[in-house]
Amino acid sequence: MRTIGVLTSGGDAPGMNAAIRAVVRTAIENNMHVLGVNNGFEGLMMGDVVEMNLRSVSNIINRGGTILHSARSEGFKTEAGQKKAADMCKALGIEGLIVIGGDGSFRGAQALAKQGIVCVGIPGTIDNDIACTDNTIGFDTAINTVMEMVDKVRDTTESHSRCSVIEVMGRGAGYIALYSGIATGATIILVPEVSYDFDKDVVDVMKRTVATGKRHFVVILAEGCGDAEKMAKKIEEQTGIETRATILGHVQRGGSPTVRDRVLASRMGNYATRILRYDNKSCVVAEKAGTIVDYPIDIALEMKKELDIDMYRMAHEISI
Ligand code: ATP
Repeated sequence: MRTIGVLTSGGDAPGMNAAIRAVVRTAIENNMHVLGVNNGFEGLMMGDVVEMNLRSVSNIINRGGTILHSARSEGFKTEAGQKKAADMCKALGIEGLIVIGGDGSFRGAQALAKQGIVCVGIPGTIDNDIACTDNTIGFDTAINTVMEMVDKVRDTTESHSRCSVIEVMGRGAGYIALYSGIATGATIILVPEVSYDFDKDVVDVMKRTVATGKRHFVVILAEGCGDAEKMAKKIEEQTGIETRATILGHVQRGGSPTVRDRVLASRMGNYATRILRYDNKSCVVAEKAGTIVDYPIDIALEMKKELDIDMYRMAHEISI
């Protein structure tokens, strides 16, 4: 394989640039040409590409976001769109494509592979909700960002003896909530994977903690678990403790990637590119027990990931 493409798709995640850098450098060092595809699958359909060289990826390992930009493409979800993208790859001489993104992006890669373009997926999403891998690129940075933000909110929460309900990202996955909740000593963590009873799991826990002398509270709420403003109002009504809601929002997606994310992205980018060069097969790369491995795309997409319920139990046992 002589020419490959690389694109970023879905929500951006810190560390995507480190992965692009690793792909470009590995490809060139192994005698391949690399085309950077702008704006994900949308850009691929339009042939929006740029030839990458060793210097195109200088000074990006430390930068959040993605220099190739990301997009969500409805057009690419249709068979006509997928055929258009595959024809564009053939016209541009792209024999293999590296897709950095989440599950949706891997479904796109799977569809493109069926059209005859070899595709390798790299898990890049802050939610850590990709089943085949222990960690996704961006997760570590996101939880560190949330930790910093919650620490700051906590200072004022403590000064005013309040309760803060802090909403973090995670519509269907509670990893950000669980890890940041443990790291910040949140009294209550609510995740989409575990159903909760408001009276028992929120109000009673707070009242029991008040009885031990605690005067301020942090509740971490994954966005898939309800509305932070409404919950704050209900908590205030039922406990009498002044309660404020904070929605962290897009700050969680940005920022300079952590060491962990830079190293993970570099390893995955290198591994994925070597697969295109030496194995020429479609797959998704993953981190399992510290080792980089790969799975066929179909199998990777069928895998299920469970939140660590024992960790969730532990978090609440030590938060009282
Ligand atoms: P994140 O986890 O950050 O949301 P993602 O990769 O799951 O990332 P999506 O918006 O689900 O984000 O998918 C990104 C793009 O992948 C879509 O805009 C679309 O172009 C393509 N895609 C998603 N699902 C499919 C599908 N079933 N078939 C073909 N292409 C798809």
